[in-house]
Amino acid sequence: MSLEATSGMRTTRAGRPIYMDHHATTPALPEVLEAMSPYFTEEFGNPSSATHAYGARAAEAVEASRRCVASLIGARPDEIVFTGGATESDNLALKCAEGRAGQHIVTCAIEHEAVLVTCEKLAEQGWEVTVLPVDGHGLLDPEDVARAITRRTALVSIMMANNEIGTIEPLAEIGRICRERGVLLHSDAVQAAGRIPVDVGALHVDLLSLTAHKMYGPKGVGALYVRDGIAVPSMLHGGGQEGKRRSGTLNVPGIVGFAKAAEIAMRDMEVESTRQAGLRDRLWDAISSRLDQISLNGHPTRRLPNNLNVSFAPIEAEALLTSLRDCVALSSGSACASGDKKGSYVLRAVSGEDSRAARSSIRFGLGRGNTVEHVDTIAEHLARAVERLRSLAPQTVEVPVGSNSTTPRTASTERRVHP
Ligand code: PLP
Repeated sequence: MSLEATSGMRTTRAGRPIYMDHHATTPALPEVLEAMSPYFTEEFGNPSSATHAYGARAAEAVEASRRCVASLIGARPDEIVFTGGATESDNLALKCAEGRAGQHIVTCAIEHEAVLVTCEKLAEQGWEVTVLPVDGHGLLDPEDVARAITRRTALVSIMMANNEIGTIEPLAEIGRICRERGVLLHSDAVQAAGRIPVDVGALHVDLLSLTAHKMYGPKGVGALYVRDGIAVPSMLHGGGQEGKRRSGTLNVPGIVGFAKAAEIAMRDMEVESTRQAGLRDRLWDAISSRLDQISLNGHPTRRLPNNLNVSFAPIEAEALLTSLRDCVALSSGSACASGDKKGSYVLRAVSGEDSRAARSSIRFGLGRGNTVEHVDTIAEHLARAVERLRSLAPQTVEVPVGSNSTTPRTASTERRVHP
């Protein structure tokens, strides 16, 4: 994307706002579309059609894609179950607990709703659910996980990296604890995959959720990694596809696109993550040098390379987003939660129920298309908008818990903390 002046406001060449909401979704890359294209037309076969070459070629494409997605996370191809996205993967993962002894699940307060709401449903069915707190940086203490596990615990579900504040959880340590205690560990790695290395062996996870549209692939396709030997109950009954684990005709173009996105992520991860972390740090420097009374949400070092989350208290995030919407596409939190009057439940878990940070924070999700020019333009518009809104409503500024003026520098730190 390049910039040009449009009615006094600098936007992209097409006159659209600069997109910096890559935690919500990412655009499919041209190579991804190119790889998918034949599977809508000449290679349209159903991979379950075993009697002719059309079916065989589609089945070959699916198996090649399975190998590619598996290699992104250090898994075996037969440990990958293709799904309709991460919500389905998370639901399916938690279903795996049902076949085990004990009816207790351990999770944490800042998980995505795909996990939290599924846990609520299990609680309605009589399951005991322990929701662990996080500290002021959004970090979970592995010792809390160890203390929460009882003889009844069937499964622990902890995300690898948070979708709002970017904090990277100590998953390998949690994995060791779960393995020692014989408890299944599921991780939602949707925001981490393709941005930081994910190795299911080193993390000791048993189940791991992925989705293509957060890594420059198509929407509506994802995967659940299921460690060899773990039984997956059928959520959808029918033709028995995916080893009877997920019935339904496979989304061949989507799966091929997912694999291409995974291949590109593996190829470019180091360079892109370092570049985006540099842009993210530049954005923080630019914002914090122009504005006082702001604070960084999330961990200063253990965070995703493309994530910045900043509180501009006492300004309401929605007011700030409205004043910026012609220039930049940002959000105040997860795509599913935006519009919630109480503000982000993730930030409430991090900064306290009454904290203004939950209603005054903006999430910046950098991506492949963002440039230095984007960052500088956004910082300039943001500073002007914040100053204007503050002058309209000069209130006492509450600096939230977890506030930190430390620059979130990190791409390399993330790689160090995650084997
Ligand atoms: N988990 C996390 C951490 C997410 O950020 C999202 C998307 O917002 C999901 C799960 C749901 O993914 P999908 O849109 O593929 O269902």
